[in-house]
Amino acid sequence: MKLINVLKLDDYKDKLLKSREEILKLFNKIILAVSLMGLIINSTWAANARFDFSVTPIAKNVYSIVSPSLGLPTPENKGWNSNSHFVVTENGVLLFDTGSSESIGNEIKMTIKSVTDKPVRWVINSHSHADHWLGNAAFTDTNAEIITSKKALTTMKEHGPGAVAFYSRVTKGTIGSTQLVYPTVLLTQKRKRNFGGLEVEFIFSNDGHSPGDILMWLPKQKIIFGGDVLSSDWMPIITGHGNVVTLIDTLYTTAKLNPAIVLTGHGRATTVKSLIRDAELLSSVWAQVKSGYETDKKPNDTLSDVIDKIGQKYRPLYKDFDVEIERHIKLMYKLQ
Ligand SMILES: [Zn+2]
Repeated sequence: MKLINVLKLDDYKDKLLKSREEILKLFNKIILAVSLMGLIINSTWAANARFDFSVTPIAKNVYSIVSPSLGLPTPENKGWNSNSHFVVTENGVLLFDTGSSESIGNEIKMTIKSVTDKPVRWVINSHSHADHWLGNAAFTDTNAEIITSKKALTTMKEHGPGAVAFYSRVTKGTIGSTQLVYPTVLLTQKRKRNFGGLEVEFIFSNDGHSPGDILMWLPKQKIIFGGDVLSSDWMPIITGHGNVVTLIDTLYTTAKLNPAIVLTGHGRATTVKSLIRDAELLSSVWAQVKSGYETDKKPNDTLSDVIDKIGQKYRPLYKDFDVEIERHIKLMYKLQ
């Protein structure tokens, strides 16, 4: 994947949206707007992104469908900006996240068919953000069980209709129409389950990235599916309706599992090293913001202090470090 033509935030916003206020008006929900702005800022976006659903083998029977586009939905990427992953079991396919629309879900289904004739029998939605579950409608023909957490479902019901309208608008309709299909199997706590001989454990982030995020752990294969709770190329995706403290805890907890492979909602597969790197970074920044907040230090002064202290170490480890660290500190002040 070649990433070229990096767009600056302002150019990007001009292209897609007249103003931030417009997003706010559209959703009338500041929480969702903040999380979407997080994605904009996280985006090093390839202007010539290919619309190429191909399969990346991860381990025996485990595959990823990785989006080459990492930012917001656009007419060029037709709304496809997130990863899906799947496991072929004895009795069918287990799919983790279904993309941002019904047509993307259909593309994912066809891509899975290039690997196996077995039907998709189980769908996991990692969380309530639209780019991870709006493709569910593509999997109703095989009566797939659709699984998420109770809290994620509540947020999906609140934001789903607005998200369909938003995605349609910013992709100029290229995303196609989407029928909302909500999960029907709801988890309320950590749980083990066997899917066609595949042992799986569901882990809760306790709202680390968004309300009700779930991660999926394959203990035998030592693979963790992190959704947006785990990241690889970018700084952790903190949001206005997430929880930084529980996100840090989840990063440490999942690192202790010592996964051989870490699969993320956006970007490339990674290893346990990313989890430790992210946990240490977030702990350090959170502690500095907390102390700055408690001593009435202004966010910009805390930002300068943080950059002086950790910039040299972390700047080479993340894309867009300077933009992201500013976003993190400002958001963390609001979350105090
Ligand atoms: Zn997300």
